[in-house]
Amino acid sequence: MRNAIACLLCLYLCAPVAFPADTIGPLRGYSNDSAKTERDWEAKFRAIPDPANLRAYMERLSKRPHHVGSPYDKDNAEWLLSKFMEFGLDAKIETFDVLFPTPKARELEMVEPTKFIAKLAEPTVAVDPTSSQHDEQLPVYNAYSIDGDVTAPLVYVNFGIPEDYETLDRLGVSVKGAIVIARYGNSWRGIKPKVAAEHGAIGCLIYSDPHEDGYFQGEVYPDGPFRPKDGAQRGSVMDMPIHPGDPLTPGVGATKDAKRLALKDVDVFTKIPVMPISYGDAEPLLAAMKGPVAPPAWRGALPITYHVGPGPAKVHLKLQFNWDTKPINDVVARIPGSTYPDEWIIRGNHHDAWVNGADDPLSGTVSVMEEARALGALLKQGWRPKRTIILCLWDGEEEGLLGSTEWAETHQDELRKYGAVYINSDTNARGYLGVEGSHTLEKFLNGVARDIEDPETKLTVWKRLQMREISMQGAEARNRPDLRIGALGSGSDYTAFLDFLGVASVNMGFGGESQGGVYHSVYDDFFWYTHFGDPNFVYGRALAQTAGTAVMRLADSELLPYDFDNFTDTIRRYIDEVQKLAKDKRDQIVERNKRIDEGLFTAIMDPRIPMTVPPKETVPPFLNFAPLDNGLTALQRTAEAYDKALAQATENGDAALARAALKEANDKLVQVERALTLNEGLPNRPWFKHQIYAPGFYTGYGVKTLPAVRESIEQKDWKLADEEIAKVGKVLENAGEAIQGATSELSRAVK
Ligand SMILES: [Zn+2]
Repeated sequence: MRNAIACLLCLYLCAPVAFPADTIGPLRGYSNDSAKTERDWEAKFRAIPDPANLRAYMERLSKRPHHVGSPYDKDNAEWLLSKFMEFGLDAKIETFDVLFPTPKARELEMVEPTKFIAKLAEPTVAVDPTSSQHDEQLPVYNAYSIDGDVTAPLVYVNFGIPEDYETLDRLGVSVKGAIVIARYGNSWRGIKPKVAAEHGAIGCLIYSDPHEDGYFQGEVYPDGPFRPKDGAQRGSVMDMPIHPGDPLTPGVGATKDAKRLALKDVDVFTKIPVMPISYGDAEPLLAAMKGPVAPPAWRGALPITYHVGPGPAKVHLKLQFNWDTKPINDVVARIPGSTYPDEWIIRGNHHDAWVNGADDPLSGTVSVMEEARALGALLKQGWRPKRTIILCLWDGEEEGLLGSTEWAETHQDELRKYGAVYINSDTNARGYLGVEGSHTLEKFLNGVARDIEDPETKLTVWKRLQMREISMQGAEARNRPDLRIGALGSGSDYTAFLDFLGVASVNMGFGGESQGGVYHSVYDDFFWYTHFGDPNFVYGRALAQTAGTAVMRLADSELLPYDFDNFTDTIRRYIDEVQKLAKDKRDQIVERNKRIDEGLFTAIMDPRIPMTVPPKETVPPFLNFAPLDNGLTALQRTAEAYDKALAQATENGDAALARAALKEANDKLVQVERALTLNEGLPNRPWFKHQIYAPGFYTGYGVKTLPAVRESIEQKDWKLADEEIAKVGKVLENAGEAIQGATSELSRAVK
């Protein structure tokens, strides 16, 4: 398809201004006539979403706190359902019962060297009308922390990621028996208590340093968008890299009569009590610490000298939770497909929030609402999608992707057969289009982005993104036909679709020009969003246009527009990366051992500030990467053959795709992403089945590509690395076979 793409680009770039971009040019997976019809429907669709509606939906949905189990969460779900029905869609609420702990007791006090009692409260901001709804606000806490009552000296652990503990070792500071205080940032929050517990800590505080999202970044709320002194970040600390979803029903839907684990058998709770605090509460604790001065990179923006400890600050932390089961309400609408009803295009965003949640998640939720309204309007005008479209508004995302995971697990048999693509969004604001997802959709998503106008610059969102990529990453973005999309880790509702089911998935949203520090606080509300997020809701409209166009283009195509050429190119890069990682690890160990032997560490240290010499390590063996290279070759061969077959299908008389019976070819195409999974999952985490993408075991949200291989190298488990290389190599070969199967069906159908 390289040539065809070049033509498409040329057509687009050279087209006279009188021809709007969205009425010309071929579309992958469409015959020419159908492409023209499709573009007409899409243009009609994009004219419908209205910023005034987005604003009104957000105002209504964010009027009161709407966390899981709250009256307004249910009220919102029912209202969303009524809107879907008003738009003419067939919709229902699917309810699950999930474990959702809420605080019963929260106490934090410093007992030595001075007394200080933490406020643990976010005060009302006078100009912000919903910030005063204290009776309904969920207190600041970390969901799925265990109960605990601990008193111990504090140790400051920077971001609390594994390499911070290597630094602590060198400083001769242990966290054994201590309570650690970590700052938010640089990892998903759940990693901090996990790593702290692995090192022997007995409690964990996570605070928001003004360096990350407070006054160091800009004006604080309400004068600006950044976190005020007493603002704190709620959030889940469930061990989601093991599995997300209801902790009592891993792998199956949390339906009424599902078999549930006993609390004592749950493996995703933290091992130690953990609590988030504001910097208003953290500053007196940090100021009372002594011990080594924190290394430069560890210092935040508070007006104190940061010390590592341990102590003399000693704190008492007491946490107790109600371990209740609460209902969650997913709102699901379905538009049946006319030709391929058993191929599903799924679109979702969550509707629950920690408090009022205007930015997270309603800025994305309201776009799905306008997409639903627009699709409803097109249906009335006679449009019929070939494939089934399912629109989902999830509940319980914030606590651990509960609504989407339970829905995906409940419908897993159907979804493994019929799930073609899942498109997710979450927060949305002013800025650039951000897209991450399955690389089988990279080319397709580039095509969509070329047809959407950026509301402020009037460039296409693709062009704007390309310019930014050139400025940040250089010429590749100028020369490669398609912009690269990122890979998906975790952090929103695509996780179960991609990682558990192997459904090709995408996450999209605008952002980058509206920053802030109200994430998961009471100040993420309508007042904040309409001043600092996307005040005119024009990027909300752009998201509805982008995601809606993608949904329609996927649902209406004759042949599903996956592409395996960009996918293979991406896999090649990942293989290069893990090979380099192994080499670098080896070189590092060799060099460090040499330095230990020659006495370098002792020679360069200030004798008055002793540091521990790191221990010598065994030099790792060379790994055999041949299985990955063989898998890649199989992919390259079959991707080329598929492109050739598709080119022939579109050359041999335009209408070949329109005429042919393509059900078998499409069915095979849907299964290619599934071929990238292994039922046994990743080492030590069987729920995560995808072998190309996973959230990192020690990053939480951040992606690890080729995760089994990459993480075994990072963790220096060389034997496991060799085994996983062989396994993943075979997975790539399986994917090659799946592509070959689709190629044969396509060639047969258009003959
Ligand atoms: Zn969210």
